[in-house]
Amino acid sequence: MKQKCTNCDKVFYPTKNNYVGYPYFWHIERAISIDRSHDRVFCTRNCMDNFLAKHSDIIIPIFKQIKESEAINARIRENKA
Ligand SMILES: [Zn+2]
Repeated sequence: MKQKCTNCDKVFYPTKNNYVGYPYFWHIERAISIDRSHDRVFCTRNCMDNFLAKHSDIIIPIFKQIKESEAINARIRENKA
């Protein structure tokens, strides 16, 4: 599919069977039959890192929030067991 890089606006073409674009590990971690190439929003790892650095004030609290809700969900699962 045709994608435009979220960081640099370069056009690139990730597909289910290639490793073009980042983050491509989403595709590996989930069911292999599902096409996650539309989630690769950066043309290179460098663009992904630059974008994360540029928007770290917004993104870091989101990462922390995800971590906290994972911990809360784990406690809920423990209490149910
Ligand atoms: Zn880029």
